[in-house]
Amino acid sequence: MRDQIADDRPSNREIHLAKTNPRQRAWLEVSASAIEANARALKRHLAPSCELMAVVKADGYGHGAETVAKASLRGGATSFGVATLQEGIDLRNAGLNEPVLVLGHLSQPEDLRACLQWQLMPTLSSMREALLCQNLADSSGRPFAVQLKIDTGMTRLGCDWQDGSRLADAIQQLDQLTLNGIYSHLALADGERDGEAARFTKLQEERFNCITRELNNSSTKVKRHLANSAGTLRDSNLHHDLVRVGLALYGHSPSQHLDGIVELEPAISVKARVSLIRDVPSGIGVSYGHRFVTQRPSRLAVVSIGYADGVSRCLSGRIHALHDGHLLPQVGAITMDQLTLDATEHRTLESGDVVTLLGRDGEHTISPRSWAELANSIPWEVLCSFKHRLPRLVI
Ligand SMILES: *Cc1c(COP(=O)(O)O)cnc(C)c1O
Repeated sequence: MRDQIADDRPSNREIHLAKTNPRQRAWLEVSASAIEANARALKRHLAPSCELMAVVKADGYGHGAETVAKASLRGGATSFGVATLQEGIDLRNAGLNEPVLVLGHLSQPEDLRACLQWQLMPTLSSMREALLCQNLADSSGRPFAVQLKIDTGMTRLGCDWQDGSRLADAIQQLDQLTLNGIYSHLALADGERDGEAARFTKLQEERFNCITRELNNSSTKVKRHLANSAGTLRDSNLHHDLVRVGLALYGHSPSQHLDGIVELEPAISVKARVSLIRDVPSGIGVSYGHRFVTQRPSRLAVVSIGYADGVSRCLSGRIHALHDGHLLPQVGAITMDQLTLDATEHRTLESGDVVTLLGRDGEHTISPRSWAELANSIPWEVLCSFKHRLPRLVI
């Protein structure tokens, strides 16, 4: 008996080759052409001399960093921003040779040495790191391109803005270092166009200008940059030599009042299959805790996606899925691997059908912003929440 079971199993070779259909359960579709078109539209929005840096941290906001990086290059981006050393190395291993800025903080000598070896630009916030870089470059005999970050009001990374000019000068005195850029980050750029957000963004801009004006004339090749997506869409005075764009590259505007300034096409769709259709009477409790009880004889569709895929449980009973251009309400608690739709008014839905949880179907589009508003979150977090259990299909 034992032997028989063993004989029926796939061979090692078959196991190695086995791949389930990526559309078997739930998946993400990523449109590389949407990312390319967004990069192109953003680039058109900039002065010709202003460069576009594609921010591809967190695996390209969940879209796949390599896919996004290559598509954004085709659309006119000329450099990349990542958060971690490993993200930078992954881009190099994918064959990308463009400038890469590590936006996060690296302070350990071995991390900075890896930056030098992989030709990634670290972000410096102090003289201590600058001297470490100088020593590393000295002993390796190659110049080290770095960028200096100035804190103009985000109160996160960077040196105090009052010290910015002095530090920039000091770094330029270090013969092995090339100061490739000097930058800062906006804290309120997605806020309203008047009031506190406008006032504070202006203050950050003035502080930044104060430092970049004082840069000596020989440093014209130092790139000055301040704007994220919101800054880029909000005000061309924030553009300087380069803009660092994440969210908008993926096709989403950071806030409602910045909608429509550049035409953007969402690049991601989240899809899943209906695994089972259930016809149930009125008065039946659905899913954990019976948070939903049918009020009429109902046709329920069980869909194979859940919070372990990135559909947050706090969206339970608040979202819809799309099929055939129709909105179907999600009912009951979202569970780890599954959720339920009320398809009572949508008799054509059958098991095996594909529904869209995020993205477009017919007239309707479900956006990360709509989920974010329901979940007390932001579109950035919604995009980053999709787990790697979901295959990413580039279309
Ligand atoms: C993530 C990040 C960006 C991109 O922000 P978006 O709002 O997604 O455009 C730009 N600059 C820095 C320093 C960042 O960390």
